[in-house]
Amino acid sequence: MAAIRLEGAVKIYPFTSLKGRIFGRKKAREALEREKRQPYATSEGVIALRRTWLDIPDGSFTVLTGPSGCGKTTLLRLIAGLESLTDGELYLDGRPASSIPPNERNIALVSQNLALYPHLTVYDNLAFSLRIRRLPRHEIDEKVRLAAETLGLEGKLDKRPGELSGGERQRVAIGRTLIRDPSVFLYDEPFSNLDPKTRAQIRSELRRLHGSLGKTFVYATHDQTEALSLGDRLVVMENGLIRQAGTPAEVYGRPANRFTAGFIGTPRMNFFDDAVLTAEGGEYWVRCRGLKVRLSEERSRILASKGVKPGRVVLGIRPVYLRPSPAGLEARILSLSVNWDETHIFFDSGGTELISVVPSGEVQAGWLPGTSLLLGAEGRRVHLFDPETGASLFSS
Ligand code: ADP
Ligand code: MG
Repeated sequence: MAAIRLEGAVKIYPFTSLKGRIFGRKKAREALEREKRQPYATSEGVIALRRTWLDIPDGSFTVLTGPSGCGKTTLLRLIAGLESLTDGELYLDGRPASSIPPNERNIALVSQNLALYPHLTVYDNLAFSLRIRRLPRHEIDEKVRLAAETLGLEGKLDKRPGELSGGERQRVAIGRTLIRDPSVFLYDEPFSNLDPKTRAQIRSELRRLHGSLGKTFVYATHDQTEALSLGDRLVVMENGLIRQAGTPAEVYGRPANRFTAGFIGTPRMNFFDDAVLTAEGGEYWVRCRGLKVRLSEERSRILASKGVKPGRVVLGIRPVYLRPSPAGLEARILSLSVNWDETHIFFDSGGTELISVVPSGEVQAGWLPGTSLLLGAEGRRVHLFDPETGASLFSS
């Protein structure tokens, strides 16, 4: 059992110069000036987590994603008890975490920088924490062999970390946490040093492991492709703020704001800052340059129920839904790039770069760089954002 809940959690790191790590008044003053110029500095320090409310359900596989510096590592370290909150509270199974010392939390953290003992064999690395706990030898042996089997390391037990591949070393690191039988597994960008093929493989092993253990997994990654494919819950962060939390399908299909819409999805969503929303006889339309799209009934209903007024909006269309069509906005082809069965076509439309993804079989011989095409989209595929706040006009 381990559900995690953040209530109004805030984390501010004090400036390093105030922590007494820098000696000499001039140096300390210079360091302070430098840190205060950081975008998220306050008078007390660097804000890593703004007021945050978050529920991580027991047994879920939750992925934290967002650009580097958005606060993922901080959030994991707070859960593990390696950092303390500046304000607010963290609950583990309903108990305030401030009352639980880190060594009683039963939480394991695997990070990108592995902490394997280079002079010990895989077997001894795996057995290490159990020996400290003075478990009987046969019990240690049983647990080590079970972990090795789960992770496909049976043949490697007498090797040292230096004799293993990157993927195998990462498996040993996971094995070390597995052996402790924690109730929460935290992963901090654990596979970013591995080659793509090994990454894909170890990722699917991690999913399988989660399925068989049924424990809470929290996984941080700045790679949105990994984020979309790995977990059953996705949390998108920016600058210490949670911008959206939901299932991967919800976050992809119904991005709550322009940031999430732009961060999740490759190629990136196309944005038009000069779109106009109009209402005609109970129907909503969005127009942009030559494009005129009637919103689907469902989307119109949401706008009507929220009392959205006609006016300027930001229009967003994912590349797979911005397609060459008989009518639409005119755009000039810049280049084409074929990726097996899909082709990415890059366009220029009045200074805005646009991307359209079409099945390669539909690409016509005349679509060459320099030619102009018309691009259209369906009313149920468009996203609209408030030009001031960036919030989606469709989210509640
Ligand atoms: P991420 O893991 O998403 O890249 P981090 O949680 O590491 O983000 O960092 C969030 C913010 O907190 C960044 O602005 C970073 O510079 C700052 N930060 C992280 N750790 C410390 C620290 N120990 N002292 C001061 N600032 C820190
Ligand atoms: Mg990090």
